[in-house]
Amino acid sequence: MAGHQKHSDKSEYSKPVDDLTNVKVGGAFKRFEQRFDIYCRSIWDEKIKSKRADDFYYGYYMPNAKVRKTDGFGLKDYALRNAAWHISNVIRDIEVAGSYRKHNLGTRRKEGFWDYFTTHDKGWSEPYQFKDAQEATDDIRRVSEFFGAGMVGICAYDERWMYETVFDKEHKGAKPQEIPNDVTSVIVIAEPMDIDVIKTVPSALSGAATGLGYTHDAMAVISIAQYIRNMGYRAYASQNDSALGIPLGLQAGLGEVGRNGLLITEKFGPRFRISKIFTDMPLVHDVPKKFGVEKFCNICDRCAKACPPQAIPYDAPTDKVHSESNIPGVVKWTVNAEKCFKFWCNQNSDCIICVRSCPFNRDFSKLRHRLWLKLAKGPLRRVALWLDDKFVERGRVKVGAWWNANRSGAKEATSKQGDTKESDA
Ligand code: SF4
Ligand code: SF4
Repeated sequence: MAGHQKHSDKSEYSKPVDDLTNVKVGGAFKRFEQRFDIYCRSIWDEKIKSKRADDFYYGYYMPNAKVRKTDGFGLKDYALRNAAWHISNVIRDIEVAGSYRKHNLGTRRKEGFWDYFTTHDKGWSEPYQFKDAQEATDDIRRVSEFFGAGMVGICAYDERWMYETVFDKEHKGAKPQEIPNDVTSVIVIAEPMDIDVIKTVPSALSGAATGLGYTHDAMAVISIAQYIRNMGYRAYASQNDSALGIPLGLQAGLGEVGRNGLLITEKFGPRFRISKIFTDMPLVHDVPKKFGVEKFCNICDRCAKACPPQAIPYDAPTDKVHSESNIPGVVKWTVNAEKCFKFWCNQNSDCIICVRSCPFNRDFSKLRHRLWLKLAKGPLRRVALWLDDKFVERGRVKVGAWWNANRSGAKEATSKQGDTKESDA
């Protein structure tokens, strides 16, 4: 949550960590209720509900896929996208057979989306005594890496970002927050998304990156949470449920928030998904770090220009909200969620054009992109932006480039798309 406007006055909701994140939390702040999340609203709010929204959700199951001739929306594209979501869907509904369900008859959960995960075995009966918090933290990093987490950051539990109430899909209303407020830490995990399919957004194919990101996320957080439980501590694994991931990722030192409203990291740029674990294991907290994203976004409006429904702001961060789907009282770049979601429904798949078009969307495992990052982080950021404009193809790539990549003649297929610039950003 960047905030380059000068707001010196603090409110009753401010915390010392805000001085490091530069988040301004004003007197109008109110904790977010999950039922106002745009996806939840599309289930109960007449203003957002529509046949197109229903078709958008149904389309994630093959018989209802809106297969058409438009590039990126063919049968193969939907087949891959929906397969990438499949394991995430299975885990989401796992409580039906799990012990939580057995003990809470009459409830339905959507784990990872509306509710935290309950699919755990019993852990150890008492907490393992680590030498100190550093030992536990080192172990968590090692374990997270083992379970495939792309990045790991740890911050203090912060009630401000916990949903005040959780969405109750059954009754289309609110139910109490279930995560106890005496947990002390939040482990925030980032899982990268595939850079090549994202080049094809908007497309059903690009949604495969999102689906697989959720699937990998679920596997990582459920396993890490089970490890913590096995060590005798409490742990609640969470994806989109329970709390806002972006401010927690910011406080956990994973990155900075860009104009597109997304967290931008030095490892994956904006191309990843966030999940988290709430725990009482004693852990050392990371320090939020800035590496120049806010300054870069001040000279760049690529995502705002590229967004088809114009949902991304061109101006400086403010505490203006577009609708009840935005949290009030926080100075930041705020995306118009209603416009964004309508575009998703109209094209019958999720969209991440604001990720594809961002200059930080690069493969930083390559030296030339790490050198670019050095430029982008410093006073030569305008040169970095110019280099991105000049040498990196940010336009949409036809899905044939992805499907044919391993076939003979693939190079020819790619070059036919008029892609004369570097395309492996
Ligand atoms: S996801 Fe697409 S519609 Fe939504 S803000 Fe990003 S570019 Fe705009
Ligand atoms: S596209 Fe430009 S303005 Fe938008 S988030 Fe990326 S760097 Fe910032």
